[in-house]
Amino acid sequence: MLHKGPRLLELAKTPSHLQFNKFVLTGYRPVSTAQECLRSLFYMHNELGNIYTHGIPFFLFLVLLPFSIPWMEVDSTWLCVAHYLACLSPTVGSVLYHVFMNHVGGEHVYDTLLSLDMFGVCLVNTLGALPIIHITLLCFPGLQRAALLVYVLLSSYGIYCATTARTNVLRLRAFVWQGLFRFSLFLFRVFGSGVGSPNSLRLFVIMDSLAVLGGVVNIVQIPERFSPGLFDNWGNSHQIMHIMVICSIIYLHWGTLEDLAWIKSYQCPTE
Ligand SMILES: [Zn+2]
Repeated sequence: MLHKGPRLLELAKTPSHLQFNKFVLTGYRPVSTAQECLRSLFYMHNELGNIYTHGIPFFLFLVLLPFSIPWMEVDSTWLCVAHYLACLSPTVGSVLYHVFMNHVGGEHVYDTLLSLDMFGVCLVNTLGALPIIHITLLCFPGLQRAALLVYVLLSSYGIYCATTARTNVLRLRAFVWQGLFRFSLFLFRVFGSGVGSPNSLRLFVIMDSLAVLGGVVNIVQIPERFSPGLFDNWGNSHQIMHIMVICSIIYLHWGTLEDLAWIKSYQCPTE
């Protein structure tokens, strides 16, 4: 049951580093201690939707995913571990960011939390793609190892960009190289000698499309742009992005399960 919290603030009364969406007019929590931030899980304010749209999926993924991951049926168990961590990572950083963003530590704490949030998104991109790379290049062990290495290096660059970027556009740009790399893998599966379950590619394309669309919705700030104040607590662009990110992770999971099931019965052609 929601209880009554402290008096909430309007946009202009909140610290400037928290004024990142000028179409969200009310419902800002006052500057708070860590304990007060935690208490804000139980009353209505404009970050509550953001907290729960990632908090609830985190617990569901944590508990339910291990039952559907074929840990013992795959030769390389690390694929399963990387995949499980990938699915969990973006929600952990996000929940911490949204719960504690109004901490008394101010802008310094805020920036650190934002970097943590972005780091989680980088991790799902990085760890989530490792099984895709491994399976696509299954029949080319040398190329497979090289591609995994290149992708991890690209990801490190992406992590650097994403955690130091100052604007949403720059943050989205940090993921472009990883995205292009995955896209070239998809092309290699369709037109080249890349392998994988015939059903997984479609799921991975939906996964990336949802993630990009979510990022764009967050940048253009729709729908609150059209009716400032109406979506302060529910239904604003950031919450829509959160839900798209969750759907994207579910597609990653389905695609990876398809590939892991497929790999069991596949034999690379011998010369
Ligand atoms: Zn968020």
